[in-house]
Amino acid sequence: MKALTWHGTKDVRVDTVDDPEIINPRDAIIKITSTAICGSDLHLYDGVIPGVKPGDVLGHEFMGEVVETGKDSTLEKGQRVVVPFTIACGGCFHCKSQQYSACDNSNPVEKQDMSATLYGQPMSGLFGYSHLTGGYSGGQAEYVRVPFSDVGPIVVPDHLDDDKVLFLSDILPTGWMGAENADIQPDDTVAVWGCGPVGLFAIQSAIVMGAAKVIAIDHYPHRLELARKLGAEIINFRESDVREALMEMSGGIGVDAVIDAVGMESHGFAVDNMIDVVKQKVGIGADRASALKQAILAVRFGGKVSIPGVYGGMVDKWPLGAMMEKGLQIRGGQTHVQKYTKDLLAKIEDGTLDTTFLISHRLPLEEAPTGYKNFKEEQDTWTKVVLKPGMEKAA
Ligand SMILES: [Zn+2]
Ligand SMILES: [Zn+2]
Repeated sequence: MKALTWHGTKDVRVDTVDDPEIINPRDAIIKITSTAICGSDLHLYDGVIPGVKPGDVLGHEFMGEVVETGKDSTLEKGQRVVVPFTIACGGCFHCKSQQYSACDNSNPVEKQDMSATLYGQPMSGLFGYSHLTGGYSGGQAEYVRVPFSDVGPIVVPDHLDDDKVLFLSDILPTGWMGAENADIQPDDTVAVWGCGPVGLFAIQSAIVMGAAKVIAIDHYPHRLELARKLGAEIINFRESDVREALMEMSGGIGVDAVIDAVGMESHGFAVDNMIDVVKQKVGIGADRASALKQAILAVRFGGKVSIPGVYGGMVDKWPLGAMMEKGLQIRGGQTHVQKYTKDLLAKIEDGTLDTTFLISHRLPLEEAPTGYKNFKEEQDTWTKVVLKPGMEKAA
């Protein structure tokens, strides 16, 4: 089959690879109908995530049709399913408490060393996201093997087309959990750093959860405009002093909650960020966190800090003093996708949530490398790329 494979920094290609096969009784094979490129795929593309090997198939946002099932799968051939990017067994300590992205059983023992050293305990399995998280082949391909297919995939009704439900695989629940982790109360003013897909969905979620005011911070005009259309007030950080503006917009006490939807490759002109850029480039593992540092200074005393943005390693000059002195509540985590899919599907069906506004480009799988390049370099207008295996190439 054809699949998008990683070959090195900024080098991804569509290769012919072996078709996936059922390995375990709970597996299913899915024929991909839609698969998206994620902001966190760009971390792989940029070579800042360790443990990726040449030839690895990327992609963790996908859906399709069930074409083969193991004997213990609960899926049936022909069903349309969206598959969570987090692989979870459903039966371990963490899965039983709905902390699916912390599943104890989905990352094989031989892959656990690096993340256990970094984090104290190993990470669980993720699709298409380096050997740190199991080395599972991803879904930017014609077919994919889905382990624990009796737990993760959600069957979607035929009247909702792919564009409406694809993002249940990651970024919609990730934005939703990002807002939930900010513990939003009805009178809250919430500031969101980053108007990428997760930031925009966090904004939409915060509004649905009843925030009084949501403020979006970015520097891309088109993305800020999308945030404004969702109902947010906006700050362009190239034009305004963010902290000053936020103080003004929050009655002089700081915002109640902040959401960092930027993650470890944040832009910034402060000296410490420039040093972090250099350190990240030479591979000594420093995440760039200028958005998060700014968020911690902007939130009010007793405020709430949510981190859906991805970080992988260490951060220099962490504002620990501000965190302690201000009594902040900080929450992060990979998304427990399986916990949210059912409720969010219902919100899509009843029209509370619509995510299709985000899709800027649809490409055949063969053009995935172009999709990566432009999603990286033309961030303002390439807001979300959906790859469609089997789609006709543009003339
Ligand atoms: Zn993703
Ligand atoms: Zn589990």
